[in-house]
Amino acid sequence: MMELLEAIKARAQGLETELVAWRREFHQHPELSHQEERTGETVAAYLRDWGLTVTTGIAGHGVLGVLKGGRPGRAVAWRADMDALPIAEKLNLPWRSQVEGVMHACGHDFHLAIALGAARLLSSLQDRLAGHYVFIFQPAEEGPPVGDSGAKGMVAAGVLDNPKVEAVCALHVAPNLDVGHIRYGPGVVMAGADRIILTVTGKSAHGATPHRGVDPILVTAQVLNHIQGFLAQKIDTRSPKVLTFGRIQGGNRFNILADEVTLDGSLRYLQESVRQEVLNGLRQQFAGLSQATGAEIKLTVEPLFPMLKNDPDLTDQAVQILLTLLGQKRLKLLHPAMGSEDFPYFAARAPGFYFFLGVRTPGGRGQALHSPTFNPDEAALPYGLTAAAGLLACLAEPEFPALAPAGPVPHEEDLGTM
Ligand SMILES: [Zn+2]
Ligand SMILES: [Zn+2]
Repeated sequence: MMELLEAIKARAQGLETELVAWRREFHQHPELSHQEERTGETVAAYLRDWGLTVTTGIAGHGVLGVLKGGRPGRAVAWRADMDALPIAEKLNLPWRSQVEGVMHACGHDFHLAIALGAARLLSSLQDRLAGHYVFIFQPAEEGPPVGDSGAKGMVAAGVLDNPKVEAVCALHVAPNLDVGHIRYGPGVVMAGADRIILTVTGKSAHGATPHRGVDPILVTAQVLNHIQGFLAQKIDTRSPKVLTFGRIQGGNRFNILADEVTLDGSLRYLQESVRQEVLNGLRQQFAGLSQATGAEIKLTVEPLFPMLKNDPDLTDQAVQILLTLLGQKRLKLLHPAMGSEDFPYFAARAPGFYFFLGVRTPGGRGQALHSPTFNPDEAALPYGLTAAAGLLACLAEPEFPALAPAGPVPHEEDLGTM
């Protein structure tokens, strides 16, 4: 196995030029969620050239490529997301986005290049490999308001079923972690998220005679105070949770009391029990407020993404592989992040391992994901490819190979913006 891993490391370095070219090609032609037609076609053409069995048009523009190793083994999957964001790029690099107002600002161009690189690299070693390699290129990770989650759609279409995938892995670029470093967690990695819609219905009246109506704007101010007071002091302070509103709407004229106010926000949590406690508690708070004010307060909960949890046994194996490939110095344990992801739909159907790959130039200042100046360092690409191809090759072996035992991995500072 060590010989195979050495070959993977060497070939990953050898593919650096291609990785950069692919990344820039995708960066120049970003497509929004559920519009990834060109991206999907580009990916499918490469995979076919390299001899993979390719299926297109899954859950929209999703693409599946399957590579068969020369020996019997297990089926393993790698997932890359393909969509970009409605952001106007502010950098003026030669490979800047050529689509007005659309940008790969979440690094999915990196994810695409790394996944293509893994397909290319492993196809060149096909005879020496065990098992099956399933490459999943999914549409629409970025989520609402644009349609349903791409991961959900691809899982429903059966991408993990034939062959039956026994481990599914993915990475996300991390702008506040140095190039080629990796952060991982053995349990919860990212928060579960619900969209929370609150409708406060009062009774319209002249602005001069509020006593003849019920002012939903005043009630909304109380609602917001109650919510944050409740979260701060009624939920165990050791349990992470956050509820914020990004949109508020109501009223139509300065001297007429509104009849309704709508608040649109998101709740994030790291434990299912905390989520239930928050939702039940809020309903109680609103019932009391409603009685006191005469306004009707309706809470609507739309589940967005489940929590992202790594499989502990798979994580243990993955860490041994990553330590062997990249060395102790590059690996750190992470604190769970309050951001969310649709990878959990895959991880619900097969043991999953999701980790972060640093893309910050050493000594530089990392730009946040989803920012118009996001500029990940391309030197990270070969590291991402080494990790992806090495993980897949080892995990596809019929018996997990003997590797260097994993020593203690230190905790590092928070991922911050994730
Ligand atoms: Zn994103
Ligand atoms: Zn992303």
